[in-house]
Amino acid sequence: MVSETDVIIVGAGASGLSAARELANLGLSYTLVEGSHRIGGRAYSEEIAPGVWFDLGCSYLHQAENNPFVAIADQLDIKIGREFGDMFAREKICFYEKGQALNPAERDAYSSFYDQCYETILNAADKGEDVAVADLIDLENKYAMTFANVMAATYTRDLDQISSVEVASFEDGSDVPIQNGYGNLVATWGADIPVSLNTRVERVIYSSKGVSVETSKGTLHGRSVLLTVSTGILASGEIEFNPVLPDWKADAVLGLPTGTLNKVCIHFDEDVFGPDGRGFHVSCNDDAGAAGFEVSVMGQNTAIVFIGGRYAVWLEKQGQQASQDYALDEIANVFGNDLRKHAAGTIATAWTTDPWTRGSYSCALPGHGRQRSVLARPIEDRLFFAGEATTIGDHACCHGAFNSGIRAAREIRNSLDR
Ligand SMILES: Cc1cc2nc3c(=O)[nH]c(=O)nc-3n(C[C@H](O)[C@H](O)[C@H](O)COP(=O)(O)OP(=O)(O)OC[C@H]3O[C@@H](n4cnc5c(N)ncnc54)[C@H](O)[C@@H]3O)c2cc1C
Repeated sequence: MVSETDVIIVGAGASGLSAARELANLGLSYTLVEGSHRIGGRAYSEEIAPGVWFDLGCSYLHQAENNPFVAIADQLDIKIGREFGDMFAREKICFYEKGQALNPAERDAYSSFYDQCYETILNAADKGEDVAVADLIDLENKYAMTFANVMAATYTRDLDQISSVEVASFEDGSDVPIQNGYGNLVATWGADIPVSLNTRVERVIYSSKGVSVETSKGTLHGRSVLLTVSTGILASGEIEFNPVLPDWKADAVLGLPTGTLNKVCIHFDEDVFGPDGRGFHVSCNDDAGAAGFEVSVMGQNTAIVFIGGRYAVWLEKQGQQASQDYALDEIANVFGNDLRKHAAGTIATAWTTDPWTRGSYSCALPGHGRQRSVLARPIEDRLFFAGEATTIGDHACCHGAFNSGIRAAREIRNSLDR
């Protein structure tokens, strides 16, 4: 490891990797340290069956129209599913109640409730109201629980813990899947960036003279440090700061906690869904539970169940077998019990307890919808911050993390010029 450098970057996820590239472009030296054994962070693909990849973290190129990873995929000749970019459009989703498809009138009722919820949230945010989504919508509506489950899987928290500003500031766009995984895309793109793996940062000491970063492999010295770890890690106290972070920064960290979105991927040994089954399926339940599941639009014989919020935390605690049983029940409710005998392999994520993230991704709590720019703000031109929690509009996304790395690298360049 180089021990003297312009910038010490902590974390080799999308934001740390993009910062590293940008710093090199700007002519600055850096040392990039990563606590785990691999790069990519929450962009992570695993092979669930030979040639079939499952993304434990990010899987869709959200806001594909403005997503830099689309061009990167093209440059690397990585296959993406542009033609499926509208797979979450309401008319493309299949809705069910007790295993039966909703009829057109029921679909309309759900749609108009959903639109009404969004309109109310946007209006409130427009008026400057940074309040809980739960306080804005009609919780007595027949489809309130379905909406709640979808929001929990989108924002990682339940409606009482999601800020109206958080929802209103997220920008629309299409959602493009990647044949062999977003994690593999990020890992391929970042493969040539020098990283010190298995190097856990334990303490950051900063002053007007520079920074010292104590790691499991020794101490690094630099002019500045760029932190890209999740707010879950920052809040856990696992990285000690000397002096401690100022109150305004600690408030931003606590206002943007990581919540839970877990996925359970089941691979089937034959095509149990058929071409017509591909797409996103939502069961309208009365209880907290899964938001729905994707039957692989790109033709793998997989179904991926999405579960968010408190229910996801609870199910994660029940363990892998319980998660698998729950997911298989959700799928069988729609496609019938025959497919059970073809279930060949399962991966269930457990992001709440992941030691390198302590949660899935950030969600602004009510009253904290404007904290993202505060989290991004540097401290004394020595401590800089990037990562999915520091972006607005593309927040919580992998490409938002990428963009934040570039933003932070440029801030560091400017600060060193000063
Ligand atoms: C289930 C799930 C589904 C998602 N779906 C999507 C999606 O479809 N589309 C999308 O755009 N986004 C999605 N996301 C979000 C996306 O994955 C993240 O926003 C993005 O990958 C975060 O990148 P990052 O660089 O900010 O953080 P990370 O990827 O977390 O990188 C931070 C790095 O810091 C390292 N680290 C932590 N502590 C230390 C330490 N003490 N010392 C050294 N290193 C440390 C970590 O190991 C990690 O590699 C999803 C995330 C999850 C969990």
